Amino acid sequence: MSKYGKVLSLVLIAALAFAVIGLAGCGTTTEKPATTEEKPAVDLKLVTAGQLTAGSDTSFPPFESMNGDVAEGFDVDLLNAMAKEMGIAKTVFKTEIFDTLIPTLKAGGKFDVIASGMTIKPERALEIDFSDPYFDSNQSLAMKTGGKYAAPADMSGKKVGVQSGTTGESWATENLKPAGATLVPFKDAVQAFSALQAGNVDAVVNDLPVTAEMVKDTTKGLAMIAQIPTGEQYGFAISKDNPELKAAINDALAKVKASGEYGTIYKKWFGVDPE
Ligand code: GLN
Repeated sequence: MSKYGKVLSLVLIAALAFAVIGLAGCGTTTEKPATTEEKPAVDLKLVTAGQLTAGSDTSFPPFESMNGDVAEGFDVDLLNAMAKEMGIAKTVFKTEIFDTLIPTLKAGGKFDVIASGMTIKPERALEIDFSDPYFDSNQSLAMKTGGKYAAPADMSGKKVGVQSGTTGESWATENLKPAGATLVPFKDAVQAFSALQAGNVDAVVNDLPVTAEMVKDTTKGLAMIAQIPTGEQYGFAISKDNPELKAAINDALAKVKASGEYGTIYKKWFGVDPE
């Protein structure tokens, strides 16, 4: 390279470095909320900068389901509202089978949070952290319209569909299996209810609000035959390696509850005000 060439490349390198530093500087000033006390999103450790990525079993209406390639539901709206409070522009829902959500979050790199109607359970809390509770739920048993269920013994010799890795499966394992039911595992709630409609199983045990949604269309010929009070609470799950994100999520949840936005979202999906 000629002397002239060397000087030119040095000048170019210097100009480039200047531009990069300049741009980085701009980014920082625009992202920093000038007047609010909110924690800037840049402080949070996220899989993809500038967005909150959620892992979710998106076959769980009305909490999460896919409308084309767009996720919708109570959890989706709630997490979006919370992200805004956190100064994060958007949320992205990634579909995962329910059973694999906790190991995938633990492994890291794929999503920041589980938003999937996940019940807070002590066994699960050994693996991941939960946010404060955001929804109260119970179990339920669905059958074809006119089906009868008063006690576990009524399921003796019957096939009962459950969703793998869920609290519904645990309840059925503890209560219906000893009474002589055969449990049939499905990978998601939609498949379990399709099997019920097709007559491949006699009953389905699943979270009550989801069963209510699945039997709403009476042309399916399905009904919620029993409510099973388990007193469950849903929480968002966060990696134990990301306590800052957990704190930000709890803070944002408290804010959307206090602002009334939580109530608006609840009413949109459940038709009633939260208790
Ligand atoms: N609430 C149930 C559980 O946590 C089911 C959740 C789901 O299927 N998305 O096990």
